[in-house]
Amino acid sequence: MPIVAGAPLVDAHFIKSAMAAPQSTRNSRKKRKDPEVPIVAGAPLVDATCFDGAYELRVPRGWLTPAEVRATGLDHGPFVEQFVSRRAYDGPGFSTIFVRRRPRFPSMAASGGRDGAARLMAYLEDQELANNATFGPVAAYDTSQFERAWVVDYASVGRLEGLTSTTTALLVEAPEEDVFLMLNNGEKEAVDFKAVAASLRHVPRRVCAACGGSSSKLSQCAACKTVLYCSRACQASHWKLGHKAVCRAAVAARGGV
Ligand SMILES: [Zn+2]
Ligand SMILES: [Zn+2]
Repeated sequence: MPIVAGAPLVDAHFIKSAMAAPQSTRNSRKKRKDPEVPIVAGAPLVDATCFDGAYELRVPRGWLTPAEVRATGLDHGPFVEQFVSRRAYDGPGFSTIFVRRRPRFPSMAASGGRDGAARLMAYLEDQELANNATFGPVAAYDTSQFERAWVVDYASVGRLEGLTSTTTALLVEAPEEDVFLMLNNGEKEAVDFKAVAASLRHVPRRVCAACGGSSSKLSQCAACKTVLYCSRACQASHWKLGHKAVCRAAVAARGGV
């Protein structure tokens, strides 16, 4: 069994539990082995949400939801959620759509250029170190939903070879945070990554960015339009707490003054 320690895309515990399926499951898996199990070309995508509705996206119909994945015993942190193909239980065709949020500090705020591309590669190289994965060139990804996005295809999945096949990773620069979206296409799936990536949307929370209150009279920051406040006092305190830099960078990134 390959070493999968530290795998961010394919959870080690999850693989282990899938591999350690009861004997009866193994037998039925054997029976269902190819050529009976076809590759599902372009599985239909359906609407889904993650992170309590903070993001919307479309995922293959019938896949395990983040809540179901968590219920299998996976213990991800609050910033990671996955949609997983049910075929993961039936063989090596492990497929997952992995979403990770990472706060972007003011010092990392969008300043134009290729900062996001560098953050994507730094993240992947760190997370995939133990797996020996290699990567193709990183490229700008055209998206109408976010300021900027960056995409990279894995050149090889290293030690995960045989557990998953093609892997693509995307970083989108959402308001005040980076979102990493990764798709592992297992051997039995052919998910349209572009369609999944293009469907990702940030759903602004109707709460005050400073105090978290959900007053019905929230006002937008007039400059960046990415945050809401319940009062002038909350806006002033959030500005001092660091919104100043984030706000100015967001405005500059948009080509404003
Ligand atoms: Zn407030
Ligand atoms: Zn602002």
